[in-house]
Amino acid sequence: MLQIINHKLVNVPYNALPHSSSSLTPNYIAAHYTAGTSVNGSISHLRSVGLSYHVIIDRDGSMTQCAPFNKRAGHAGVSNWKGLSGLNNHSIGICMANRGYVTRFANGSYGLVDTHNTPIGNFLTEDQVVRAEHFNGAETNLYWEKYSTAQLNAFSEVCEVLIQTYTGIKDLIGHDEIAMGRKSDPGPAFPFADFYPIFANRNNDLGPLKTVQSSDGFLTVRRGMSGNFKSLGQLQNGTKVHIRSEGYKYVTNNAVLNNWVSISRQGTMEHIGFVNRNFLIP
Ligand SMILES: [Zn+2]
Repeated sequence: MLQIINHKLVNVPYNALPHSSSSLTPNYIAAHYTAGTSVNGSISHLRSVGLSYHVIIDRDGSMTQCAPFNKRAGHAGVSNWKGLSGLNNHSIGICMANRGYVTRFANGSYGLVDTHNTPIGNFLTEDQVVRAEHFNGAETNLYWEKYSTAQLNAFSEVCEVLIQTYTGIKDLIGHDEIAMGRKSDPGPAFPFADFYPIFANRNNDLGPLKTVQSSDGFLTVRRGMSGNFKSLGQLQNGTKVHIRSEGYKYVTNNAVLNNWVSISRQGTMEHIGFVNRNFLIP
């Protein structure tokens, strides 16, 4: 049974990474993957670039805490969720060792590649990989490393003790949900729904309510964040929806809003697709 004393997990190694001295009152737990194979490699990389998570969970389920839970860590970057922006100010970041999307090689194995498409690290076998499309519509990344059972159990335990300790925590969010167009983690291999029962307060957290208003009389819901993605259906003018998150694009290395938003139906929280926010009125 995990315990938190003075904002640190008891009997869990502490290896400080650079984090803010500003205080944090968390409303969310944000899930991430390392995009690598070893936690040690990830910790030294994070230290060199000045980023941090509160907790990192290795493949065997072992945890390392890297920032106290009442201080802001540097894991979310430019981000927004349900009307809030800058999710480092509102969330505890938990990262799991996971390669993320992997390439399928001609011999049927899977793995990471460098910028020259040369394989790096160990290969994965078919049963270590999930074939799934990301909710963001990316059609090229189809294979994702599975999370280990030990890792998911550890994630669940740490969420439980965090929710008991920090009662303002409402929900579990993915980096790919709060930084759409910038990030793919924790990706489609991460079983979000398995953890929702732990988050007893998650049902009242709806995003800003907007009304569809288009000169065509309807608004097309898309699979991804541009008009090139396939239609998932149409919403008639007057339909009310919630904005979950606003997407980003890069303009000369700066992340700026791309005008596409993830929406849910009125009174619900699930992503139903993307629409152009120019056709949503208050
Ligand atoms: Zn991340």
